[in-house]
Amino acid sequence: MPELPEVEVTCRGIKHHLVKQYITNVTVRNPSLRWPIPDNLKRILIGLRISTVTRRGKYLLIDCGKGTLILHLGMSGSLLVQQIKAPPQKHDHFDLTLDNNMILRLRDPRRFGAVLWTTNDVKCHPLLIHLGPEPLKSTFNGAFLYKNTRSRNASIKETLMNNRVVVGVGNIYANEALFQAGINPRVAACKIGLNRYERLVSVIKKTLKIAISAGGSSIRDFVNSDNNPGYFQQQYWVYKRTGKPCQKCGNIIRQIKLGQRSSFYCPSCQK
Ligand SMILES: [Zn+2]
Repeated sequence: MPELPEVEVTCRGIKHHLVKQYITNVTVRNPSLRWPIPDNLKRILIGLRISTVTRRGKYLLIDCGKGTLILHLGMSGSLLVQQIKAPPQKHDHFDLTLDNNMILRLRDPRRFGAVLWTTNDVKCHPLLIHLGPEPLKSTFNGAFLYKNTRSRNASIKETLMNNRVVVGVGNIYANEALFQAGINPRVAACKIGLNRYERLVSVIKKTLKIAISAGGSSIRDFVNSDNNPGYFQQQYWVYKRTGKPCQKCGNIIRQIKLGQRSSFYCPSCQK
């Protein structure tokens, strides 16, 4: 599943091909994504000029002046920038054609992605209004997390993955950051002190930044790539290492379920 680093790298990769371009065509091959693609999108978008491409959480926001196109990659989506003549593949459900003769193409085999349109302030869209702070911004810090968890009895792992607390810390990064901070994923969020939260926030930021820079170097080129860019392959301390020895202490990595999600931890390094 694309996590925040993939979406951030996608945003950086597509941005310079899109900004200042006029939309000359819209092709919807299959509107049945997580929510249906609005059927009047072609009429709305043709002739509009893209002013900015930004990211909020895992949403990509394409500002077209009169409104904003909201894209989400879902479970398996990717965005490609291709030449206008590139033939669509089986799972290419949505194309935005631009006047530089390029196409922004959404490829999404499992169709949990989204293409939505709003003319209101996008920050107030129902999907975005309740989102917590961006993990890489300075407003997300140890004191913030400490203050906002005093009455949370849920585990710290589930709390980190709650988009109302902080956006974009998905399963991989929650597992990895908790290992590096030495915190057991089952500990109730309200039981963790300020010092441990400061350490945790620092490793969350570090882990995400490393993934973004890995992605920036592994996805060389969004243009003319006919392959799915894929998701970043990295070395993990605990994620999907059940039954293997901890790389710090040698104890066996365990797997449990927290909030329906697989959680991996070292029982001796994480207290
Ligand atoms: Zn260990």
